[in-house]
Amino acid sequence: MSCSSGTCGCSSNVETLDVVLIGGGIMSATLAAFLRELEPSWKIALFERLDRPAAESSDAWNNAGTGHAALCELNYTPENADGTIDTSKALKINASFEVSKQFWSSLVEAGKLGAPGSFLQRTPHMSFVRGEENVTYLRKRHAALTQNHLFAAMQYSEDPATIAQWIPLVMEGRDPKEKIAATYFPEGTDVNFGALTRTFLDNVAKTAGTALHYRHEVRGLHKTKDGGWKLKVRDLSSGECRAVKTRFVFLGAGGGALPLLQKSGVAEGKGFGGFPVSGQWLRCKNPDLIARHGAKVYGKASVGTPPMSVPHLDTRVIDGKKALLFGPYAGFSTKYLKQGSLLDLPLSIKPDNLWPMVKAGLDNVPLTQYLIGQVLQSWETRVAALKEYFPNARAEDWELAIAGQRVQVIKKDPKKGGILQFGTEVICSADGSLAALLGASPGASTSVPIMLDVLKGCFLDKGAPQAAAWKEKLAKLIPSYGQALEKDAALAARVQDWTGKTLGIR
Ligand SMILES: Cc1cc2nc3c(=O)[nH]c(=O)nc-3n(C[C@H](O)[C@H](O)[C@H](O)COP(=O)(O)OP(=O)(O)OC[C@H]3O[C@@H](n4cnc5c(N)ncnc54)[C@H](O)[C@@H]3O)c2cc1C
Repeated sequence: MSCSSGTCGCSSNVETLDVVLIGGGIMSATLAAFLRELEPSWKIALFERLDRPAAESSDAWNNAGTGHAALCELNYTPENADGTIDTSKALKINASFEVSKQFWSSLVEAGKLGAPGSFLQRTPHMSFVRGEENVTYLRKRHAALTQNHLFAAMQYSEDPATIAQWIPLVMEGRDPKEKIAATYFPEGTDVNFGALTRTFLDNVAKTAGTALHYRHEVRGLHKTKDGGWKLKVRDLSSGECRAVKTRFVFLGAGGGALPLLQKSGVAEGKGFGGFPVSGQWLRCKNPDLIARHGAKVYGKASVGTPPMSVPHLDTRVIDGKKALLFGPYAGFSTKYLKQGSLLDLPLSIKPDNLWPMVKAGLDNVPLTQYLIGQVLQSWETRVAALKEYFPNARAEDWELAIAGQRVQVIKKDPKKGGILQFGTEVICSADGSLAALLGASPGASTSVPIMLDVLKGCFLDKGAPQAAAWKEKLAKLIPSYGQALEKDAALAARVQDWTGKTLGIR
């Protein structure tokens, strides 16, 4: 049987699989790990266009490695018009990260994820603000959040001496008259999502029936009469093309997921577009400074700037080595992947998403202007931004590094025509044979609950015969499965004690 186009020299033998995962980042790796627990006998293949896993957004240097739990990110706690703080998003994100930690803990205990220190480090999470108005906001945020047990351990201070103990680099050289405040949460995390991806994949590769194919790009897919999918895959080393059949396909291709979703033609994918945002960091070269900082310190984004532009001074631990980065500085490129093509954005414009993309573009002109302004920033302007957090910073101690590419979701909106959103969107086809993941935030930290959404949307809610058995296994892997940790203090305490000790955070 030849592939759908018949023009690429596909071999005549079509392999038939249970699951195909497109993309070798944290999302596909997490889904692979779940499916190996749930269905050890299924035949699973993963196709990745690059020569190794986690070389795009999931690579440690391409993202900030923050275990997003809303402990320090001020954009998750907006201020209401009446001056109160909306904590609903923060509670949800915190509980979601706890779900990720439980899955990782179960696999660590089962010897399937190596030593937790190879991918996760305890790193205090802090918010740091300047100026009367921001100090008032942070004080109210702390008071609102600590009413919930998940945030009870958060400390607050306006005292320069206390803050200097937490973050000396941020306080040295600072005007003592400046009004400042900070919160401190000791059990925050720095996660190397690249290492985690590789560990997941190394482990699943040991199971018979799993095949990982690098330098293999999925070029097209179409629905088959039997309800499955036929994919056209190009081996980028040999140039050969082959066809693969599967019952279920996951488009975990990061920025490459939107073009594949469009090729699939599923109705649920119509009207979606993507808005790419690139990023850059300042990376510290001075080992003495790196050694003197030990926290993730998030500030407040300037009014009108996108959430991903929140500046932070971050301790990282990458491949056993401590590092320090500041940023991100946002930017604009028409690529959907760091190693993508400048034609990605123009080629993704289709009749069904043209209006949503135009509308979202028109409604977000200030964002585009902001991003272009960021791209044109001089080195001196970047260092000046760093000095707001680290007053004694010297330009020669830092170098510029390119971060990963994010593709924000543009979707149809009945009122506005099209909207730009900063979260993630799981798209499941009506028959449950295809799932796609669009968007970037809170990202890798919530990869486990996001993949639970995929399992729910494509299998559990579709009356899959294995649903009852899967739920039982999921409840063993994730003790809080199906329960809201933000509402159950006793359960949260039990679970956090276990994950904290297993992952070396407590
Ligand atoms: C600057 C920045 C900072 C971030 N900071 C954080 C953070 O602090 N904490 C956090 O939790 N998250 C963060 N994120 C988000 C996080 O990095 C992403 O949500 C996550 O890595 C996405 O994983 P993924 O597997 O979906 O995509 P990726 O890691 O991008 O993997 C997708 C893979 O698919 C491959 N691919 C694409 N098209 C094809 C195709 N046609 N065929 C085969 N393979 C294909 C790509 O080569 C790539 O390897 C950040 C992201 C960025 C860009």
